[in-house]
Amino acid sequence: MKKYVDVIVPLPIAGQYTYSVPDELTDKIKAGCRIVVPFGSKKYYTAIVTKVHQTAPEAYETKDIMEVLDESPVLLRRQYDFWQWLADYYLCTLGDVYKAALPSGMKLESETLVVLNPEFEALQPLSEKEQRILDLLGNDSEQCITQLEKSSGIKNLLPVIKALLEKEAILVKEELKRSYKPRVETRVRLSAAMQTEEAVHRQFDALARAPKQLALLMKYIELSGWTGEKKELKEVSRKALLDSAGATSAVLNGLIGKGVFEIYSFEIGRLSAEQVSVSPLNPLSSAQQQAYSEILTHFHQKNVCLLHGVTASGKTEIYIHLIQQAIQAGKQVLYLLPEIALTTQITERLKRVFGNRLGIYHSKFPDAERVEIWRKQLTDDDYDVILGVRSSVFLPFRRLGLVIVDEEHENTYKQQDPAPRYHARNAAIVLASMFGAKTLLGTATPCIETYYNAVHGKYGWVQLTERHQNVLLPHIEVVDIKELARKKRMTAQFSPLLLQKIREALEQKEQVILFQNRRGFAPMIECRTCGWIPKCKNCDVSLTYHKGLNQLTCHYCGYTYEVPKSCPACGGVELINRGFGTEKIEDDIKLIFPDARVARMDLDTTRTRTAYERIIADFEDGKTDILIGTQMVSKGLDFDRVSVVGILNADSMMNYPDFRSYERAFQLMAQVAGRAGRKNKQGLVVLQTKSPDLPLIAQVVSNDYGGLFQSQIEERNLFKYPPFYRLIYVYLKHRKEEVLDQAADLMAGYLRNGLGSRVLGPDRPPVSRIQTLFIKKIVVKIEQQASMSKVREYLQQVQRAIVEDERFRSLLVYYDVDPM
Ligand code: ADP
Ligand code: ZN
Ligand code: ZN
Repeated sequence: MKKYVDVIVPLPIAGQYTYSVPDELTDKIKAGCRIVVPFGSKKYYTAIVTKVHQTAPEAYETKDIMEVLDESPVLLRRQYDFWQWLADYYLCTLGDVYKAALPSGMKLESETLVVLNPEFEALQPLSEKEQRILDLLGNDSEQCITQLEKSSGIKNLLPVIKALLEKEAILVKEELKRSYKPRVETRVRLSAAMQTEEAVHRQFDALARAPKQLALLMKYIELSGWTGEKKELKEVSRKALLDSAGATSAVLNGLIGKGVFEIYSFEIGRLSAEQVSVSPLNPLSSAQQQAYSEILTHFHQKNVCLLHGVTASGKTEIYIHLIQQAIQAGKQVLYLLPEIALTTQITERLKRVFGNRLGIYHSKFPDAERVEIWRKQLTDDDYDVILGVRSSVFLPFRRLGLVIVDEEHENTYKQQDPAPRYHARNAAIVLASMFGAKTLLGTATPCIETYYNAVHGKYGWVQLTERHQNVLLPHIEVVDIKELARKKRMTAQFSPLLLQKIREALEQKEQVILFQNRRGFAPMIECRTCGWIPKCKNCDVSLTYHKGLNQLTCHYCGYTYEVPKSCPACGGVELINRGFGTEKIEDDIKLIFPDARVARMDLDTTRTRTAYERIIADFEDGKTDILIGTQMVSKGLDFDRVSVVGILNADSMMNYPDFRSYERAFQLMAQVAGRAGRKNKQGLVVLQTKSPDLPLIAQVVSNDYGGLFQSQIEERNLFKYPPFYRLIYVYLKHRKEEVLDQAADLMAGYLRNGLGSRVLGPDRPPVSRIQTLFIKKIVVKIEQQASMSKVREYLQQVQRAIVEDERFRSLLVYYDVDPM
């Protein structure tokens, strides 16, 4: 009987494709495995089988699949159910989900760029085909798979590429940007003939005229701790030796040729690189113990529980106890953190307790490492705990019992671009329910919707109102900067009180954090004469000025421009640095406190994970006195020498035109304030604002989340926002503005036919042109009780009607469900 397979291809097309399976592959094919399929005229892709069956499609002639890549499924049944839920709920395709879910190394296609791994040394002989590919890459180290196929003459190259990737002889191009950590380390040792002290000394003399080789030998002696006596030497990696001696590999090879050194490979195992010793759990305080028991009680009746605990109340300690409990019951735990909060601080803390049972999944890790975690999750030796960012909801699990979403209010849990525009917290709740697992949402400043669910009994609700060991919450002092500016008493952006408190803190060797919200305050340049501001030629936005690089950058399309010497509008030469970026604050603070050690943490100074961790480590170690930063400084970091926190401008957060702006402003200020305070001294927060009389300011000062919730929930009800209504934004994009306007009006009209006044717009979003495409947005507001599946169906029906219209062929339509 002829076999057919339904597959997901990594493309944004609706529905699945059916292929036929050639006879020689019928035994190998299984649902959940990856296969290679032709698609379009020449291209081929890695697709995933969702179903094996015997029904040929009626509408089209099937093509044969080319190859089966896996012996056993890499996509488990429940993962596939989860993918379907995501595509359905977030109005995107399974192809979109597939692309987001799998690490690059698992979804090769004809256009994938591969490169030689410079660290590779073959441990076993390579096949003839593999060798041919390496030779080709040796000539030109970066090629796409189609190109390699052409020049090697090997048909159907993917299995060969896959084998080379598994041996780590080659890498997918993307991961070169990340810091790649090899699994096998090449190490250096003295050869057998060099084992005696005498032999080594003879070698010293012999190398007198080869100073570079001599220096390298000396370096080795130093690094290995060799003393001539019989004892264990330290292992020395080839890279460490060459790096610290500043020598080239030619020098080393010379010594190997002379029989001084030999090299050997050592398997270091990337995932469990160091053997960690596991320490016992901290006992919980009585308040924590109480919260812990309440959580477990709620879990008897409810699937989701909110742990609302002030900053530093010990939420993380409670998570650790819950994880331990789940593991003892034979279950797996997924612990989600926002990208930026996933630091060494938290990983070290968990590693200390869970050792090698903990796996860490981070988007800034090398792709090969993510592939390895994925594969390990499919074995019997899978991780008990995964600590990871948003995308770790896609990992395979088989025994999931508990999901923890820390800092659940964080809006970075929502993926903005590209599709699937999913919210990892909400997706995780659904994932957990598919396993019959429980979800704990933890935060000091809940999302309004979450709190609403807790108050109304949909979620369990547990509170921790005291910090651990009665450390006091900080005292917050409000400063009216409008008044001070009028009296000309501000120094740059600093009030006299803030400067005085910074000075006192520095005198007492305490630390300071200065917080500047970035939004709406990106640094720009402006012509002093005519007010001209440079804008991106592809997008409708002002360019951001990077003083360090002396460049203008578009934060939407990434395009960079030179800073003009004169104003193109009026020819004036006085281009001033406007705006309020963190860079400017850094400059000013250095002028005022020339002896202080100042660091800055924002998008520009934290491009790599190491840069980010460096800044935090220096601050922890007291190597920095003042840390200036954007929202990043507010994220779950735990410092114990910070006595003063300055919030430079509260208004920039509150005035943002969005229904969540007050909620966010409260969350940001409460979180950043939470960094202040130490074991035996109450911390101080200086909150600078132009509107000290706003109720929100009073709520922040008294840490009155309940008050904030009350006022927000009334507004949300009145203006039809979540949690009372669900929002769906419909975006339309087109190169031509007239075509876009026509399409948007037509689509909004169709939508109104079915949904009436639930449809608003079309409008131009604040940024109405990105990468040369014009954008329009239609807002749909649906009552919480309404049937979402009907609404989704209707939206898709309207979309089909629009895109099938001749005039709108190249129109792009996409959705943002539950936008943040
Ligand atoms: P949160 O997650 O609520 O911000 P943490 O769990 O990070 O709070 O606790 C704050 C600090 O107090 C941490 O340094 C943590 O190690 C310490 N701490 C909290 N609870 C305990 C405990 N039961 N035993 C020992 N240290 C604790
Ligand atoms: Zn000008
Ligand atoms: Zn741009």
